[in-house]
Amino acid sequence: MAKQIQAIRGMNDCLPDQTGIWQWVEDKIRSVVASYGYQEIRTPIVESTDLFKRSIGEVTDIVEKEMYTFDDRNGDSLTLRPENTASCVRAGNEHGLIYNQQQRLWYMGPMFRHEKPQKGRYRQFHQFGVETFGLEGPDIDAEVIQLSARLWKVFGIAEHVTLEINSLGTNEARANYRDALVAFLTEHKSVLDEDSLRRLESNPLRVLDSKDASVQAILKEAPSLFDYLDDESKQHFEGLCERLDKSGIKYRVNPTLVRGLDYYNRTVFEWVTDSLGSQGTVCAGGRYDGLVEQLGGKSSPAVGFAMGIERLVLLLQTLELTSDVPAPIDLYVTAMGDLAEAYATDVAEMLRDEMPTLRIQRHCGGGNFKKQMKRADKSGAVLSLIIGESEAQQNCVGLKHMREDKEQETLTREALLAALRTYFK
Ligand code: ATP
Ligand code: MG
Repeated sequence: MAKQIQAIRGMNDCLPDQTGIWQWVEDKIRSVVASYGYQEIRTPIVESTDLFKRSIGEVTDIVEKEMYTFDDRNGDSLTLRPENTASCVRAGNEHGLIYNQQQRLWYMGPMFRHEKPQKGRYRQFHQFGVETFGLEGPDIDAEVIQLSARLWKVFGIAEHVTLEINSLGTNEARANYRDALVAFLTEHKSVLDEDSLRRLESNPLRVLDSKDASVQAILKEAPSLFDYLDDESKQHFEGLCERLDKSGIKYRVNPTLVRGLDYYNRTVFEWVTDSLGSQGTVCAGGRYDGLVEQLGGKSSPAVGFAMGIERLVLLLQTLELTSDVPAPIDLYVTAMGDLAEAYATDVAEMLRDEMPTLRIQRHCGGGNFKKQMKRADKSGAVLSLIIGESEAQQNCVGLKHMREDKEQETLTREALLAALRTYFK
């Protein structure tokens, strides 16, 4: 036998037993973003490498070691998108969606990062995200957070995620803080691990993200970014906190939250859970007022977030909150004999005309009723139709409840339709 070819490590197939939950999650996300009046944007999964280098920052984990970058046949350097904010800004600038306008956009799709695959961390993964442009006040920061909080409510996981927020201030405030932090870390160089030493040189704020316990311990004594905030950013942050308080959204101010990407300023936030081990960040975002200009557009304020769908699905499965995921089939239609088979197919087609959202599977492949009913049961359908020669001759069907202990009924086509309309209201 020929050797089988396997999928790329860290890139998962989503098989039929999983696509149900994914579609259910995606549908709920779509209805929540619609309820806030956000519009979808779809951008290519491949972009010029420069787009990500210029936006995410040269000295970030993503650009330094995680991008899938390759030369196109004509020698251009292209990259599979590791995230989608840069692409949204690129598209917005290119098509004139941003300058002098307000936009509330959302997207969903695959992202690619060459990371060490583990639970909740993959090389192809999926993000849902929102990006808003042209709004600078804390009202929009509060709105995007509120939108994410609504998703937790819709999925029933509000108790299992917590919100952490921080403000990075203006670039200038951050630069002042960076100097103070570098001075502090240089004094404590002996405690820093290799990663932190490297970051101290290249991107000192990232040391605050360190997972190393002794580094975290000395960071407790480090100067706080908060003390370096400019007044306007302070006010902006207070405005956000007030709005979150009024909306009843609980949060923890975490002064060491800086996020891995270069483009953030002012508000940054993360939703974290302790139900997923070390891959605990489900959603992360913030304000990036400088990025539009940095990518060649006219300056525009912007704020958004990205949510990892694999982590959300894992969380729902871990917490066993998937009972509302619909079975793929509602009604299984069995039949025996030539006349009955033709009649059953006709009934199934009539039902598809009348009730287009009903998921109907017509048994194929023959066999006796016992075998057909086994299939019906396996399909997960709640109802089945049983059609023999006599039903076909009398223009009626047998309706059987698969999950309830109820008598089988014999119904005319009209009565069947009425019964199904009541059942699947
Ligand atoms: P982490 O700290 O876990 O590496 P990150 O800061 O790199 O996350 P972002 O770039 O902010 O993540 O992406 C937003 C969200 O996308 C994350 O909170 C997470 O839910 C998800 N995500 C990021 N990288 C991966 C990945 N490799 N596999 C699965 N989900 C991911
Ligand atoms: Mg990462």
